[in-house]
Amino acid sequence: MAPPKIVTLGCRLNAFESEVIRERALAAGIADTVIVNTCAVTAEAERQARQTIRKLRREHPGMRIVVTGCAAQLGAAKFAAMPEVDQVLGNAEKLDAANLAEGGERIRVTDIMTIRETAGHLIDTPLISDFGERTRAFVQIQQGCDHRCTFCIIPFARGPNRSVAPERIVEQVRALTARGYAEAVLTGVDICSYGADLAGGPKLGDAVAHILAEVPELKRLRLSSLDPAAMDETLFTLLAEEPRLMPHLHLSLQAADDMVLKRMKRRHSRADALAACEWARKARPDVVIGADFIAGFPTEDEAMFANTLSAVSDMGLTFLHVFPFSARAGTPAARMPQVPGEVRRERALRLREAGNAALATYLATQVGSTAEVLVESGEEGHTPHYARVRLSTEAPAGAFVKVRLAEARGDHLLGVPLS
Ligand code: SF4
Repeated sequence: MAPPKIVTLGCRLNAFESEVIRERALAAGIADTVIVNTCAVTAEAERQARQTIRKLRREHPGMRIVVTGCAAQLGAAKFAAMPEVDQVLGNAEKLDAANLAEGGERIRVTDIMTIRETAGHLIDTPLISDFGERTRAFVQIQQGCDHRCTFCIIPFARGPNRSVAPERIVEQVRALTARGYAEAVLTGVDICSYGADLAGGPKLGDAVAHILAEVPELKRLRLSSLDPAAMDETLFTLLAEEPRLMPHLHLSLQAADDMVLKRMKRRHSRADALAACEWARKARPDVVIGADFIAGFPTEDEAMFANTLSAVSDMGLTFLHVFPFSARAGTPAARMPQVPGEVRRERALRLREAGNAALATYLATQVGSTAEVLVESGEEGHTPHYARVRLSTEAPAGAFVKVRLAEARGDHLLGVPLS
């Protein structure tokens, strides 16, 4: 009997949930089962899910294959029709090991838009205690999304915004620090909507303040993607005053042209995003800011794209995640006049080049300075500002090593331990 094998595709939230699935499947004695936790953020992600399933079937002919995650939530029948697949579970069902038991219905997928309660697995059952080989642990604080960006299918896979109770998050972070995790990364679908569904409407900043106050043993707290239109004042105050809140913000910008942002149905303007960056720098002058961008959104012309491209330097962005627009069937953006594929790819390339140049400039400013690196694998780790550092000598994963940043090498720095 082989222990359950969990294959995770997609985002940090999926990574967190896969750890929940792993712990519950083990506790329930589930065996000889492969669980594929899929992603549906793009059509390409769905194609990869199917490809992964076929490969797993070849590699594990005798095992049950259970498909779950966002692609399964949105396309249950399609996955159930695959001969390689034994069962399809929805995003709500995947967290209940009883659904994984042999002989269950082939398709068990609830209409996720009807789910209202805070994520069940975070109310009554043991917290996750392990995060595999990682020294940084992702901690889910929120689920779902109430926004309707015109390019995005995620709200229909994840359901409405639901927040995890602050005391439950604190228990989770305590359980992980007790296991030696030095860094927690708060994650969700739209963490800036945190608390909108909770009594008193606490904001993300309140949750961060609560965690830092209640878990003094936590060394580093990092935030995943932030909506520049919804970053609250407490967050900036903490950025200014709390050294354990990492000076690295990643903004879900997507574009920096007001007409494109309007057609994306984003809640921020170019000026709002610029103001958020300035506010962050005023709070913490050494803060490093990254951003997500979609290149070639429908109707985007060269002038509009130029506004997005120039935002890299105007906003002082360093770490860019760039995606050429990919139409998601069922979204309003898929019905808009499309920008030709080669133009999307070419614009994505120019944005990435601007990002690489910005990163190289930032890394060059760090050469000669010292930094504390949290070692993730024997010879690599990240600074508080999220610069990747390769160590000149090995160190144990989970260790904090003070280094002199001796050299910039492409997308990372060489770190020489000081003692
Ligand atoms: S905020 Fe927009 S992009 Fe993000 S999950 Fe919600 S709808 Fe999608």
